[in-house]
Amino acid sequence: MEYLAPASLDEAIGLLASGGSGAAPLAGGTDLIIQNRSGRREILKMVDIKRIPELNVLEFDAKKGLRLGAAVPCIRLGEFAPMHKHYPALLEGAELIGSMQIQGRASVGGNICNGSPAADTICALIVLDAVCVTRGAGGSREIPAKDFMTGPGKTALKPGELLVEVRVPPPPAGSANGYLRFIPRNEMDIAVVSAGVWLATSKDGKCTDARVAIGACGPTPIVVDKAAKALIGSKFEEAAIAAAGQASREAARPITDIRGTVEYRRQLADVLTRRAIGMAVQRLKQ
Ligand SMILES: Cc1cc2nc3c(=O)[nH]c(=O)nc-3n(C[C@H](O)[C@H](O)[C@H](O)COP(=O)(O)OP(=O)(O)OC[C@H]3O[C@@H](n4cnc5c(N)ncnc54)[C@H](O)[C@@H]3O)c2cc1C
Repeated sequence: MEYLAPASLDEAIGLLASGGSGAAPLAGGTDLIIQNRSGRREILKMVDIKRIPELNVLEFDAKKGLRLGAAVPCIRLGEFAPMHKHYPALLEGAELIGSMQIQGRASVGGNICNGSPAADTICALIVLDAVCVTRGAGGSREIPAKDFMTGPGKTALKPGELLVEVRVPPPPAGSANGYLRFIPRNEMDIAVVSAGVWLATSKDGKCTDARVAIGACGPTPIVVDKAAKALIGSKFEEAAIAAAGQASREAARPITDIRGTVEYRRQLADVLTRRAIGMAVQRLKQ
């Protein structure tokens, strides 16, 4: 295997194009190296993208929102004040990945490019209405986060295309967000089910807009429009929150596996949706 560490985006794209299916971008390597060592994926050319300046951007602007470079390690997000203030759902997802040691390497970019429907940052990116900016031999594209994952281990990226950054719009006044997951232990496991919620309200506390997404409940994360509709127009009364939870239960299309049964996951989708709404409502009050 060849290890290459280009210093520019163009160089990386050239290396990926010439390497064909045996070439892969390497960010933190916390998925890729494990897949390579276990024989699940044969990599002939590892293209380390961590030295590319565009992929290390971490900026917030009140008018433009957040720019998060695809190779920024999750640990940096906790040190970046705007994440706490404006995008707690994304921070919550990033800070759940593995452990502090894993977060020192792992990136949000790698998390979503790996394509797992249980990935801890994708639901937050979806409800925050993020856009994934990519670049390949054919130029740049913008892919909404909700369309980025296309199946287990699959994404909308074309062969040789790189995720450059994720852009998240600025938070409107009166909005809040939150993310949580369930695992049967405290850490170092992947989500049995997860839920992300974004809420917007008017001055009188009425919900004017909402987005709900659930993870690990199907081949890709699921946007639960019916849950959002149940909340819009409400003041987050118990009945509205219960209806949103029920909508997630109905939208979930999980499988039974080592981590839980279909019934268990549907129940979790309901509970976690209600709890994530509760988290966001609490943040609105604060
Ligand atoms: C002990 C342990 C615990 C873990 N716990 C969790 C957890 O709790 N939650 C969770 O969601 N995940 C978890 N993971 C999985 C992993 O850490 C995360 O998915 C992580 O965010 C991957 O990021 P990375 O930078 O290491 O990606 P890498 O391993 O470098 O890359 C992952 C994939 O994305 C591709 N890729 C990376 N960057 C780009 C790019 N910019 N453009 C195009 N393709 C790209 C790579 O080629 C590869 O296919 C865990 C892993 C370990 C080892």
